[in-house]
Amino acid sequence: MSNVKSEPLLSVRHVSKRFPVGKSFFGRANKFVHAVNDVSFDVMPGETFSIVGESGCGKSTTSRLINRLIDPNEGEVYFDGQEISKLPAKEFRPLRAKMQMVFQDPYGSLNPRMKVQDIIAEPLLVHTNLSAGERLKRAQELLGVVGLSPTHGERYPHEFSGGQRQRIGIARALSVNPKLIIADEPVSALDVSIQAQVLNLLRDLQEEYDLTYLFISHDLAVVEMISDVVAVMYLGHIVEIAPNEELYGHPSHPYTQALLSAVPVPDPDVKKEHILLQGDLPSPTNIPAGCPFHTRCPLATEKCKTETPKPHTVGERHTVTCHYPEKTV
Ligand code: SF4
Repeated sequence: MSNVKSEPLLSVRHVSKRFPVGKSFFGRANKFVHAVNDVSFDVMPGETFSIVGESGCGKSTTSRLINRLIDPNEGEVYFDGQEISKLPAKEFRPLRAKMQMVFQDPYGSLNPRMKVQDIIAEPLLVHTNLSAGERLKRAQELLGVVGLSPTHGERYPHEFSGGQRQRIGIARALSVNPKLIIADEPVSALDVSIQAQVLNLLRDLQEEYDLTYLFISHDLAVVEMISDVVAVMYLGHIVEIAPNEELYGHPSHPYTQALLSAVPVPDPDVKKEHILLQGDLPSPTNIPAGCPFHTRCPLATEKCKTETPKPHTVGERHTVTCHYPEKTV
């Protein structure tokens, strides 16, 4: 963990997002996907905060709510001490430069018709007054920073491998000196050997540029490698937040325990009990009442079917959203 300070850089407070998917006879929305439900967490400067969960759990929607690609139905987002979720677009624009994205698909996110140096320099055109020559110089410097050659700037995205394209995406994110980088599944499209290189690059850049990462992934092994603090999402709800070692060493929520029990261990002498969850993942258009996990939880009681649990603090920066945190710890 590098240079973690005391005030959060990012605070998400009771954020919810619903998407309409069905309409009544009169044309009114009457069915919703409840993508994100009452989500709250803090990201401290200099740390890597990861959100992990299965596909469709709401983790990517959460990241899009933070950088205002979509707006929440409820809740607030504070960035660098300022509430940003309701700021007019014009006032939010300078803040967007401080909050850059790295996407999953490095090819899809790079314009195939632009030279790499122009792709990297594009945010500088939007957010700074630098001249064309200064932007080009900065783009070439950044190619070196991410482990490519400045001469690569003249080439086009299709001339690079997947790992190199992700380095270009990282260089573009770095161009405007962001404080926060939101990395949404940044290595999941890459081979395992390349994943490690890109994760190492992200870690080195964090030290060098005092960056804070919000890292979104479905891959528990990747999240363990990079994170300081991890939040686990299930059906749009955060069920557990804990420091990395605590979460992987002592998972507390029954869902976290089940997820981690399914991760293969490289040591054949280590025996692990695989917790099989009952039933299927419910539809996000029809989230179960009470605890959203009760239809699959091995510890569920009658109370779990009707009462929604609140987060309980069970350690430093460790919260478990369960009626029985003492049973699960
Ligand atoms: Fe399981 Fe009940 Fe805890 Fe939900 S509240 S995780 S159903 S024990």
